Amino acid sequence: MNLQEVTQKKYGRPIAQCTNEELYYSLLTMTKGMAKERESNAGKRKLYYISAEFLIGKLLSNNLINLGIYEDVKKLLAENGKSLAEIEEVEPEPSLGNGGLGRLAACFLDSIASLGLNGDGVGLNYHYGLFRQVFEHNLQRETPNPWIGAESWLTRTDVTYPIQFGGFTLQSRLYDIDVIGYDNRTTKLHLFDVESVDESLVGNGIDFNKEDIARNLTLFLYPDDSDDAGRILRVYQQYFMVSNAARLIIDETLARGGDLAHLYEYVAIQINDTHPSMVIPELIRLLMERGILMDEAIDIVSRTCAYTNHTILAEALEKWPMHFLEKAVPQLLPIIFELNSRVVRRYHDPSVAIIDAERRVHMAHMDIHYGYSVNGVAYLHTEILKNSELNNFYKLYPEKFNNKTNGITFRRWLLHCNHELAELIESLIGPGFKKNAEELEKLGAYVNDEEVLRKLLAVKDARKRALKSYLKETQNIDLDENSIFDIQVKRLHEYKRQQMNALYVIHKYFEIKAGKKPGHPITVIFGAKAAPAYTIAKDIIHLILCLQEVIARDPEVAPYLKVVMVENYNVTLAEKLIPAADIHEQISLASKEASGTSNMKFMLNGAVAIGTMDGANVEMHQFVGDDNIYIFGESSEAVIKHYEDKDYVSRTYYEKDENIRRAIDFIVSDELKAVGCAENLERLYNELLNKDWFMTLPDFAEYVETKERIYADYEDRMAWAGKMLVNISKAGFFSSDRTIAQYNQDIWHL
Ligand SMILES: *Cc1c(COP(=O)(O)O)cnc(C)c1O
Repeated sequence: MNLQEVTQKKYGRPIAQCTNEELYYSLLTMTKGMAKERESNAGKRKLYYISAEFLIGKLLSNNLINLGIYEDVKKLLAENGKSLAEIEEVEPEPSLGNGGLGRLAACFLDSIASLGLNGDGVGLNYHYGLFRQVFEHNLQRETPNPWIGAESWLTRTDVTYPIQFGGFTLQSRLYDIDVIGYDNRTTKLHLFDVESVDESLVGNGIDFNKEDIARNLTLFLYPDDSDDAGRILRVYQQYFMVSNAARLIIDETLARGGDLAHLYEYVAIQINDTHPSMVIPELIRLLMERGILMDEAIDIVSRTCAYTNHTILAEALEKWPMHFLEKAVPQLLPIIFELNSRVVRRYHDPSVAIIDAERRVHMAHMDIHYGYSVNGVAYLHTEILKNSELNNFYKLYPEKFNNKTNGITFRRWLLHCNHELAELIESLIGPGFKKNAEELEKLGAYVNDEEVLRKLLAVKDARKRALKSYLKETQNIDLDENSIFDIQVKRLHEYKRQQMNALYVIHKYFEIKAGKKPGHPITVIFGAKAAPAYTIAKDIIHLILCLQEVIARDPEVAPYLKVVMVENYNVTLAEKLIPAADIHEQISLASKEASGTSNMKFMLNGAVAIGTMDGANVEMHQFVGDDNIYIFGESSEAVIKHYEDKDYVSRTYYEKDENIRRAIDFIVSDELKAVGCAENLERLYNELLNKDWFMTLPDFAEYVETKERIYADYEDRMAWAGKMLVNISKAGFFSSDRTIAQYNQDIWHL
């Protein structure tokens, strides 16, 4: 059915007489219908990508692009006096992920479908997602982010399972979202929900009764885990996710004529971080229920499951107290005990045991022993896993370890979010790059072509103006489009070091006051959500918001320096911010950022990075060379050594470096306290002075120098445009199509 027919059937009106809302729902109906026609489920072997997060973003435009009808629909709407851009605004963005890990899962689904592979995603249908961030009195407040209306991308299915917990059983229901590949087949994102979920349980903000599992299970992603009730709820969620996944896998395999004794010939399961790890014991349990003996069941599952590690931050590697599992999922305990005792008998090494001396279950350890592949997500990250973090495991199973450097889908992060740039590229090198990202290399021929470089700068200017009007309209923020847009957007975490960027802002504020004016005005843009229970992260947001206010009010500085913190950073905002960036900040403490993916999105959109030798920055640096990325900071080896030697004392840097002292003291100055909250500012001040666990201060002096250099280099517009072009031309490697092709070749064998 075409759009005209859909609006007639649905609303009894032609396109020209429909509201934007009616047009959005008509396009939704039409797109879902077209997706259905492309469904196929060929191939003996099928991948199940299980993930607690899928940060999919809005789907309408992307689906239209992947169906190849975006331009036609846009034209048809325009002929009827309608704007596709305005219709897109009607769509709510689901927040089914925190940040990079969830967005990666979404990019992977796009690439799996676009490469025509046989693979689906499996996760949970959170009704309120993570949360919606609002700022009040320069503080973050969390509110629910509802996204499921009467009509949505979800399709209710007949699949439902009884999921048993300690003492009660809940009925599940599967909802599907079509994942439409670019010029290719359609696969599915399977989201399980609990039939008894009750949205009215949510009271003030994001508070709800954490004990009422039947009604709360799928309300939020990662409910506040600062107390035991919140932590055990995560166990319930995780088991609910993997038990449903395991049953679906078994049912689909049998329906395709598969044989459970050879499940690994029919199925590959990718465990995205440790949240789905319980799929291992659960699948063993379900196979045993079907008459397969324990030894064989363990062997089958071990040849089916593969694990992706996303972090080396100790606090993020999940360890569940045994009594949580005893309460929530007692049926898994005999299996977990058996898995552990086999490890203990075989290796006699407590450091690789699944259950430790404090009776905590190490989920990653279970994945490594009972999975056939362990991968890191960037070259450096995998090396750190092999050589330090998971070295004891690497020595046991060197053949299991492999690297799969992350990637992003170029459909969303170029074709959809930056039409102007995609058109310019196509005019230069033809359309081949849309399917084969490596063809971007051909742009290298134009690095000295002034006419091309001028066009590239014009595209960037257009995108800066577009961001300006978008932020004015949606958040009442004023931007100066002639200033340098220097952007840091990502989850708020001390290791990502937004606090270092904030300290630089203070430093620059003093420099400008002292008469040192920059060549171009500078706009430092932040976007970040902090976990609701992460106090210091929220204090850093508070500092940035206070700086925004103090600097905006200072007539001496405001014309040259502006701080902007956008509210509720999400995929939709990323799609507007990233194309408009001149400079992007990738300044994590070396060794701490597993990969990063916003770095790749910015690079593809012609922004230049200032960054540390961390995550995928290392590979970016290798591709573009010293002249096209601004690297600073201690190496990962030096940082790892500081942690081993416990020799870092932040106060010594404060005492010996005047710039550091001036910037840190300003956090608790009267000016800031006048617009902020003394308790928060003092807590942050003390944290930096007495702890600074993520070593902000040792890198600060070099960070300042590098910032001055990058701002100075920006002044030579042609040389800068050359850097932009080199970055775009070398971005091909970071396509998630490449990543997924490698997963398939080395791990999945679909
Ligand atoms: C890409 C993306 C991220 C990941 O950003 P990093 O800088 O790699 O941590 C987080 N949130 C959103 C909305 C994204 O699009």
